[in-house]
Amino acid sequence: MSVLVVGSVALDTIKTPLADVRDVLGGSASYFSVSASFFSPVSLVAVVGSDFPQKYIRLFKKRGIDIRGLETVKGGRTFRWQGRYGWDFNDAKTIATHLNVFASFDPGIIKEHRLSKFVFLANIDPELQQKVLAQVKNPRLVVSDTMNYWIEQKPKSLKKLLKKIDIFLLNDLEARQLTGRTNLLKAAGDLLKLGPKRVIVKKGEHGALLFSKNSLFCMPAFLLENVYDPTGAGDTFAGGFVGYLAKAKSLNERTLRRAMVYASTMATFAVEDFSLKRLLSIRRGDIERRVRQFRMLTSF
Ligand code: AMP
Repeated sequence: MSVLVVGSVALDTIKTPLADVRDVLGGSASYFSVSASFFSPVSLVAVVGSDFPQKYIRLFKKRGIDIRGLETVKGGRTFRWQGRYGWDFNDAKTIATHLNVFASFDPGIIKEHRLSKFVFLANIDPELQQKVLAQVKNPRLVVSDTMNYWIEQKPKSLKKLLKKIDIFLLNDLEARQLTGRTNLLKAAGDLLKLGPKRVIVKKGEHGALLFSKNSLFCMPAFLLENVYDPTGAGDTFAGGFVGYLAKAKSLNERTLRRAMVYASTMATFAVEDFSLKRLLSIRRGDIERRVRQFRMLTSF
């Protein structure tokens, strides 16, 4: 089944101790779409300005991503994010966020996309996430993500949205920030009370946790030799997770746990090079090979 995603399509400027890149393809919806497209068809809803390079549009098309919902504002400027990482790659510092065309984006969802059964509300203004969700009829699964910027700017809208979703994805720092709890078990418990049936807390290079009211799955991280730029790891994780589920027959605990492994595997590719470079160079066989290595690493 196909997945509908709304989120940012961006031009990122990033500095890490190992890389320094300017205006490269980024954005939560970009990473998500490319990652999910390895498993299921994807329809992208976002907005860019007329400065958005055509080569990136071609790249989405090449991956078979449906971009009928990607609007281009004539004379507008694309969303830009500038970030920096020190030696701790789990800690992204935002230097600048320029919403540009996203500040006045009013997404209208085409008829066909309104029937999507799998919806991912990638990191973007929770009011936009809500606007898209309100146009979808009877989705089977709604997953959403966020980040510190929106927790600080729009906490009320974010909490309102949480009542309407099935699975909430965020990283450990964001979970602590949103709930005011330092303990992750307690933070996840509080988040579950806000509405979602499940919460996934991503812990960067330390794995991820899948919580529900009655269960907990702890997934370690795959150990990588080459980590170049962690940008987009979370969105790529989400793409693997939702893309895998949209292809699966059921949404039971076992399938969700397997989806976590595929999600994490996809994220390992995202960080091996800057922007979407590495992700765009892999094939399905590379994913399966790494999932097998993951299994070897974690079974006992
Ligand atoms: P992550 O998976 O958390 O590393 O996401 C990184 C991506 O999020 C970058 O490519 C940015 O363009 C995008 N991003 C950064 N800040 C925001 C924001 N406030 N809203 C939406 N997307 C953002």
